[in-house]
Amino acid sequence: MKSADVIIVGGGPAGSSCAWSLKRQGVDCLVLDKEPFPRSKLCAGWITPEVVEDLELDIASYPHRFLSFKKLHFHFPVIGLSPPTLQHSIRRYEFDAWLLERSAAPIDIHKVQTIRQQGEEYIIDEQYRCSYLIGAGGTRCPVYRELFRKLSPRASKKQIVALEEEFPYDYRNSKCHLWIFDKQLPGYSWYVPKADGYINIGIGAMADKLKTQGGDIKSHWDHLTRKLERKRLVRGHDFKPKGYSYYVRGKAEIFRTGNAFIAGDAAGLATKDMAEGIGPAVKSGLMAADAIVNGAAYDLSGISRKSFDAKRLMLSWLLRRPYSAG
Ligand SMILES: Cc1cc2nc3c(=O)[nH]c(=O)nc-3n(C[C@H](O)[C@H](O)[C@H](O)COP(=O)(O)OP(=O)(O)OC[C@H]3O[C@@H](n4cnc5c(N)ncnc54)[C@H](O)[C@@H]3O)c2cc1C
Repeated sequence: MKSADVIIVGGGPAGSSCAWSLKRQGVDCLVLDKEPFPRSKLCAGWITPEVVEDLELDIASYPHRFLSFKKLHFHFPVIGLSPPTLQHSIRRYEFDAWLLERSAAPIDIHKVQTIRQQGEEYIIDEQYRCSYLIGAGGTRCPVYRELFRKLSPRASKKQIVALEEEFPYDYRNSKCHLWIFDKQLPGYSWYVPKADGYINIGIGAMADKLKTQGGDIKSHWDHLTRKLERKRLVRGHDFKPKGYSYYVRGKAEIFRTGNAFIAGDAAGLATKDMAEGIGPAVKSGLMAADAIVNGAAYDLSGISRKSFDAKRLMLSWLLRRPYSAG
């Protein structure tokens, strides 16, 4: 049986941030992921300045596609707002693999199925053992399923459904557009350009509200693609979107039991307003490492539940002053 002090299930932003921090502090850890990296991850790839800061990312030396926006273009049903705010886009295919490699943690390609406790240790699939276990396996994380689901069930009201597609496209418009509540969508749709001729198109909505309205995500998707064509943002593309679902932040949840932790999407940490999950995944991964190494409380209440403060955003637009989170 293979053993490590800490085993991290999932090598996405939550898992790789945790591994990066643990390795920097000399902790023996191992990442298990069911897929070899680079792997595809449905995601618009919008990252905030906080993510750049938390990851100590030197933009100039980041070797892959990285595009910065000086404004976001929000389109509400009756008004458009373009507040000045520095935000960025990356491709998850590249970003996640780079982060995982940077962590310098060993990685095994292994799909985790069973977890049991034996004394002070966790035994995974009768093949791995560890003293600390991090569940960073996204929405369907086996650590959440085996150790947390009963303690902290997810609320169906917090579920997001999303459809998206990322593809090479010789775009003419390099702005980031967000359509909020378009056609009563309980969510928003987006057009996010990436550096060097890629774009990401998508739509995300609260599943419960969409169902109550009798709507379906596919018809909203068709509305979005027609609009992109009409606005000449994307022309003549044969769309083949893929779907995924995850959870935004709920009320009180349990994120640690014994020496097992959940982080990122496994813990349902995406923000309530924009369903932004990369930032909370990174923060929680780093905090899990801090809890293990320094005995810090694994208290995620300080991770913001919102991506933007609506009033500050409005003020920054009115005063033409760059928005800052706090
Ligand atoms: C369509 C869409 C658009 C989005 N856009 C944005 C955005 O623009 N900005 C933003 O901040 N957030 C966005 N999000 C949310 C964001 O993608 C997630 O919150 C983020 O990826 C969470 O990171 P994570 O590390 O927790 O999980 P993930 O990135 O999902 O990583 C989990 C890893 O665990 C592995 N894994 C899963 N099960 C197992 C298993 N049984 N055994 C071993 N390994 C396993 C997976 O292979 C995966 O590599 C979007 C989400 C969707 C669906």
